[in-house]
Amino acid sequence: MTRIPAVCVALVASLAPFATFAASPSATKRAAVQSVDQHADELIRLSDQVWEFAETALREHRSAKLLADYAESKGFKVERGVSGMPTAFVATYGAGRPIIGVMGEYDALPGVSQKATADKTPLVEGGAGHGCGHNMFGAASLGAALAIKEQIEAGKLKGTIRFYGTPAEEAVGGKTYMVRDGLFNDLDVVLAWHPGDETQADTVSSQVMVDMIVEFHGKAAHAANDPWNGRSAVDGVELFLHGVNLMREHIKPTSRLHYTIVSGGDVPNVIPEYGKVWIWARDWERAEVDGLLARIRKLAEGAATMTETSSKLTVQGGSWELLTNLAGARLLQGNLEWLGAPSYTTDEDDFAKRIQRATQVPEAGMDKAIKPLENQEMEGGSTDVGDVSWVAPTLHVTVATSPKDAPWHAWPVVATGGMSIGHKGMLRAAKTLAATMVDLYERPAALKEVRAEFEKKKGDIVYKAYIPDGPPPIPAK
Ligand SMILES: [Zn+2]
Repeated sequence: MTRIPAVCVALVASLAPFATFAASPSATKRAAVQSVDQHADELIRLSDQVWEFAETALREHRSAKLLADYAESKGFKVERGVSGMPTAFVATYGAGRPIIGVMGEYDALPGVSQKATADKTPLVEGGAGHGCGHNMFGAASLGAALAIKEQIEAGKLKGTIRFYGTPAEEAVGGKTYMVRDGLFNDLDVVLAWHPGDETQADTVSSQVMVDMIVEFHGKAAHAANDPWNGRSAVDGVELFLHGVNLMREHIKPTSRLHYTIVSGGDVPNVIPEYGKVWIWARDWERAEVDGLLARIRKLAEGAATMTETSSKLTVQGGSWELLTNLAGARLLQGNLEWLGAPSYTTDEDDFAKRIQRATQVPEAGMDKAIKPLENQEMEGGSTDVGDVSWVAPTLHVTVATSPKDAPWHAWPVVATGGMSIGHKGMLRAAKTLAATMVDLYERPAALKEVRAEFEKKKGDIVYKAYIPDGPPPIPAK
């Protein structure tokens, strides 16, 4: 689903100044970064294999097994199939506090299959592809966890490292189920990253989202012989969606509504007895989304009344907004700057420019800057990382893996995610996460500051997931 950046002005504005931590790196930090380099070939292989598997939400069986097996082979204790999801797992090493988590995703998107080429060419016609770069996400985070594991093993760091294999971010939000089941509750802090077209320690939030299914049940009849005996579920669907679209005039400019008609009858000569709509509502504010949900319920009921059908609204998922952490962002920023700006070969930059030409965006090549913490761009999108951020302080960084401004959830991200541009971003992300975790293990005052900010921002709000009991539904694609 996701691009993280979005703005929560109130949070950001209250947290000036934006100074970053720039002390000289410890020997352990250097060793952790070297560990990523030592395992670079393996991590690239993991990323490329997950890229090739291109498995969609809750079908990431080979991808999850690959990462879990790798963690196990490196000495992590691995618990598979957590929270009722066969493709979710937790890999742990070490003992005692602090307990630091790092999250990895590995689900692909349907319909965006693409070769690692600068022109639009599917690898598998109609197949799935890593249009959000989650192949790199999982591999880099696991690489960072491994770098920390080695420092704990060598007696350089004390505590526990935990890698969370979190499936289905693009569909049902696997993390939400893991949060609901308390899997993050004992963490001192958790880190995540996301591939992007730029590099920054994120200081902006994501959108709240609620994911609903609205079904209509009517009565089938012969459409020519006795239509008066039928009641069309698709009439219910149409009136419901007409209501949704009229409502758009009366919602906040920040709100978003998007839907697909999943089922709209089979043939014209049968009055359809079943219709199904999949609809999402988003805003930056949870209260707005909750208000939209209540209004959408009324629209469904009203449409059912008008068409003498029945309606059923099911909330099947949703995400809270990301609770940002500026103290954590400063640590990430310090490490991004210490590692230095990304660099690319002429061939890589040309590859990026060819993609930019093909997608009609400025031919600027790769973005080589490290963005400052202030004035980060507002972009729409939601993520189940948001849910995690309400139970454990969450540090989030975006690392460039694709050409500047090229479309996301689309073939360019798949293309660069399967070649050296993506590999470089993936390794940079692993190093940034590893270096930042070393800071958190080595500097109790830094961890304390991160936690204090988390407690202050969270206040007395108690997280409650937008999901029902039980395991998530497996998406149709
Ligand atoms: Zn994503």
